[in-house]
Amino acid sequence: DRPGPGDAIARPRLTVVSGPSGVGKSSVLAEVRRLAPDLYFSVSATTRSPRPGEIDGTHYHFVDRDRFQHMIDSGEMLEHAEYAGNHYGTPRGPVLAALDAGRPAILEIELQGARLVREAMPEARLVMLMPPSWEVLVDRLTGRGTEDPAVVERRLRVAREELAAAEEFDHHVVNADVRQAAAELVNLVVGPPGSRSKA
Ligand code: 5GP
Repeated sequence: DRPGPGDAIARPRLTVVSGPSGVGKSSVLAEVRRLAPDLYFSVSATTRSPRPGEIDGTHYHFVDRDRFQHMIDSGEMLEHAEYAGNHYGTPRGPVLAALDAGRPAILEIELQGARLVREAMPEARLVMLMPPSWEVLVDRLTGRGTEDPAVVERRLRVAREELAAAEEFDHHVVNADVRQAAAELVNLVVGPPGSRSKA
């Protein structure tokens, strides 16, 4: 689409990336970071404990329940949601500061949060990262091996719900190949403004 007379001057884009557990979000986003180092990646706050190798302030802001609640009460959260028994939220300030400074921003959040961002910032693009097939996703989720079957079952149920909401998203990017999926995502995030039709 070309900018029309009523359009605002091109503003950097806010892109929300969601996708079911096991779809390969972290690998694709790591590649996106490599391809587009100027992108701003939002750092979420969470009440879950750090996993080995995760750094506070880099992967997440690891906070306790009180601090998380305070962030909600003081209006700091652009959105927040509960997922698998933990709380996750996007601090609003850094995202808006990045956009104001001309940097496209990316949020990697789950479905409920994506819906809330859509309400709060209707201009945001919603991208769902999709598995090549349901079977591939089941393989990835069960193949991790170490997991308790009840945990796998819960992940599959949540994954099914997330995929069922794919129609609400502006674009679908299939992760059959990490590099290709990352390249598609970079185009959506930093490419010229386009229509919101599904890719
Ligand atoms: P994990 O605990 O595996 O890092 O993340 C679990 C889920 O929480 C993932 O689907 C991830 O996208 C989502 N998530 C991470 N940060 C946020 C956030 O700030 N808000 C919301 N709504 N979801 C988030």
